[in-house]
Amino acid sequence: MKPATRRAIFARLAERTPHPATELEYATPFQLLVAVVLSAQSTDKGVNKVTPVLFRDAPTPQAVAALGAGRLQPYLASLGLFRTKAKNVAALAEAIVREHGGEVPRAREALERLPGVGRKTANVVLNTAFGEPTIAVDTHIFRVANRTGLAPGKNVADVERGLVATTPPEYAKDAHHWLILHGRYVCVARKPRCAECAIRDLCEFADKTPAADEAPPRPRAPAPRKAAPPARAKPRSAAPPRGAQPFAKTSRAGTKRGR
Ligand code: SF4
Repeated sequence: MKPATRRAIFARLAERTPHPATELEYATPFQLLVAVVLSAQSTDKGVNKVTPVLFRDAPTPQAVAALGAGRLQPYLASLGLFRTKAKNVAALAEAIVREHGGEVPRAREALERLPGVGRKTANVVLNTAFGEPTIAVDTHIFRVANRTGLAPGKNVADVERGLVATTPPEYAKDAHHWLILHGRYVCVARKPRCAECAIRDLCEFADKTPAADEAPPRPRAPAPRKAAPPARAKPRSAAPPRGAQPFAKTSRAGTKRGR
């Protein structure tokens, strides 16, 4: 993809959403970190249903650590993998209190050492809480980067490398959210909404979905000639009964005898 096309794509996404933000609800870097950990295998909406009550009762690492995994579970029970998440959230809260004075560390290595925190979660926190130009490649970004041609790659690491290396600096900080929102609401997995897509003419995806007024004609029904052969043709191709002569010879011989 040409640099000018790449820049134009981000310019259009920026025009549509000048101030993109995460849809997770949080008030502090710690709450964002917890919300991101909880969002694994869950939707942001699902997470936003549980965190207001959790953060009301336990807004800080100290309070979450004091709850412990057992008493965290009821808060998270509507989320998938809630037992594991409760264990990880309690452990990461303890680690933040014990090793970082109750503050979420701003260094990638320190973040990734926390229980339940991988590269993607660290990227989200670095970007959203601390304003670093990181890109956390989730399923939406992976799809959009490959379809558009912004950063084709076979795996998450390839796509992240490609996006970080090629995103114009002026768009680097918000690229993460623009691409997620685009993938979540427009370039959706099963049937991308190409007809209403702001970057349709710049996108390199070969199988764009057509607009309603440019839908291709429906395929015609198969022509009769291509249908199964007529029933009368069947006896000819059918295998003769064991011991019988082939149809033509029997017929001719019978005719001669009859005459
Ligand atoms: S044109 Fe279609 S495939 Fe390309 S980014 Fe837009 S929605 Fe996705």
